Amino acid sequence: MSLKENIRMVKENIDEARKKSFDPQREIHIIAVTKTIPVEVIRSAIESGLMSLGENKVQELLSKYEEIGTEPQWHMIGHLQRNKVKYIVDKVSLIHSLDSLSLAREINKRAGEDRLKMEVLIQVNVSGEESKYGLDPLSAYHLIDEMESMDWVRVKGLMTMAPFTANQKVTRDCFKRLFELKEQIAAKKYGHAEMKYLSMGMSNDYQAAIEEGSNMVRIGSAIFGNRNYD
Ligand SMILES: *Cc1c(COP(=O)(O)O)cnc(C)c1O
Repeated sequence: MSLKENIRMVKENIDEARKKSFDPQREIHIIAVTKTIPVEVIRSAIESGLMSLGENKVQELLSKYEEIGTEPQWHMIGHLQRNKVKYIVDKVSLIHSLDSLSLAREINKRAGEDRLKMEVLIQVNVSGEESKYGLDPLSAYHLIDEMESMDWVRVKGLMTMAPFTANQKVTRDCFKRLFELKEQIAAKKYGHAEMKYLSMGMSNDYQAAIEEGSNMVRIGSAIFGNRNYD
């Protein structure tokens, strides 16, 4: 199928899932995940209206940013090492993968040097799977508390990756739990941590994620086809 056709399908599926969810009117943000995808193809995606791009590696994000520029918004969705923060704070509009206090401090420091406020999502590991990055829910609360004094980093919501499993109930439970956590954090009305975005759902599970309350999906292969890693 063509890129345009894939995008149309994804949007249709999103609409269908949104209608089944608690808030059928809300806006769903699509982050087109462009890792391993060549620049020409990414340009076509931008022409088709996908204006938010997600990359999971700093080096790849930087080289594509260099070629494509600031027309799309860039999202850092993968694990971020502290020593790489300085390269991206002035280029990305949202970091989805804040998962430690030391990383928060580094983002605050580097964003402060550029006098810009960096928006971040806290990555939560609700499934407790060991191989995954992300904080457990209690640690997410602790991190938010610690971030109150950080002027240059703004929490905008939560992100999770569902565990690798064919069991759809496990996936759905994970989404339900992240949604509940988001609601609980929002109820605390922190001045420095807004729960605007819930980044959950990828090619295999975005419909379930939206049905469970996601408003930001990170979609790669359903848009671009299967990735070629060689
Ligand atoms: C690759 C990736 C995605 C998209 O994966 P697809 O299954 O291709 O949709 C989403 N989120 C993160 C963090 C990723 O690394």
